[in-house]
Amino acid sequence: MADAEHNSIYGPVDSWRLGRSLGVDVLCVDSICSFECVYCQLGKINRVTSERAVYVPTEKVISDLRNADWQSADVITFSGSGEPTLAANLGEIITAIRDLTGKPIAILTNSTLLGDAIVRAEAGLADRVYCKLDAWSEDSLRRVDRPAAGVSLGSIVSGIRQFRKEYKGFLGIQTMLLTRPADADIERLAELYRVIGPDEIELNIPLRPIPSEWVLESRGNITGRPEGMHVLKTMEPSEAGEIGSRIAGLTGIRVITPFDRPPQN
Ligand code: SF4
Repeated sequence: MADAEHNSIYGPVDSWRLGRSLGVDVLCVDSICSFECVYCQLGKINRVTSERAVYVPTEKVISDLRNADWQSADVITFSGSGEPTLAANLGEIITAIRDLTGKPIAILTNSTLLGDAIVRAEAGLADRVYCKLDAWSEDSLRRVDRPAAGVSLGSIVSGIRQFRKEYKGFLGIQTMLLTRPADADIERLAELYRVIGPDEIELNIPLRPIPSEWVLESRGNITGRPEGMHVLKTMEPSEAGEIGSRIAGLTGIRVITPFDRPPQN
């Protein structure tokens, strides 16, 4: 369980897509996720799991929020030390935060639990949901996202599709690309976007520094290259921009990248 040193609220930080975003970390006792992405800014996922549990009591999150500068935030965003839908009290916390602040609420999810109707219902309480989709094949999923046992690209895509059918709010798909995919793979990715039908696709490349092990601070915006952290070698931002234009043409869906402004969250 979280103690007083593990504040479940962080920021606000400036996010390129969300504006001034106050972070809610419903996992802050450890780094906990159903993926171990090679580019993860948390450094290391200490608990790789697809099992939901209560990690931070709802009362602690609300108490931390009351002590935070939530009034200056444009949006309250669930992200933090791993995959927020792994918190079994996610829905309860969203409802309590909405009652307290009246602010728009966003969730960044890796999409792996969206096959679960309860998770879809809880995530659907948010105003904006951003679903990760980095892969176009089982092989690319295993190489880049390194999922927990039982997670496949098929289960992820079908979970997002089902969520899209049920959810009335804003659905964004977030894709992190390290190197330029082959043309055929860009087309496969475009086909997945088409069958999902999101409101927007966000393409990004991992530019943030990565610590060698999880530290709570890694959930926020760390810039530069602090000692002990490394950055990945990736394709050029301009290449990601080109791929974005290609995908927009193939799908007819709006594609955005952060490269027309300084890279941030
Ligand atoms: S889904 Fe997010 S938190 Fe989980 S390993 Fe990937 S980047 Fe890290």
